[in-house]
Amino acid sequence: MSRKCSICNHGRRQEIEHALLRGESNRAVAEQFTVSRGAVAGHFKHVSTALIQARKLGEIECGKSIFLQLRELKLEAQQLRARADRTGDSRTALAALREEIRLVELEARLSGQLDEKPETNIVNVTLDAETARRMTETFLARHRGVNPT
Ligand SMILES: [Zn+2]
Repeated sequence: MSRKCSICNHGRRQEIEHALLRGESNRAVAEQFTVSRGAVAGHFKHVSTALIQARKLGEIECGKSIFLQLRELKLEAQQLRARADRTGDSRTALAALREEIRLVELEARLSGQLDEKPETNIVNVTLDAETARRMTETFLARHRGVNPT
């Protein structure tokens, strides 16, 4: 599945993932890094899938994929909230909303640091990721608490 992904093996993979995190479209990222749009979309999809599987096993990856994980967690919180909204479970909806806000704030803070020091802050990103990892673990622990499955 991922063995032939040109983004996984791309020399600027982190930059590509950061661009996606900042919400840039697949097309914009593809143009910026001279890769195909399909490759960008495919990469994001299979990385997300891998993250979901890893999380099911209770493993939280840290480091270069932290931003994608945050994005995925945010999406999950949104889905949880949407589901709770539909069933009228306002307590769960509120909890999910709080986590969403927390994740957005964290994401913005990490992105802001990246923007201030582009290119050469890989060490800083790794340190931030450690903090982020702890926060995602906290989120997951709470998430399990509000989601019976
Ligand atoms: Zn890939």
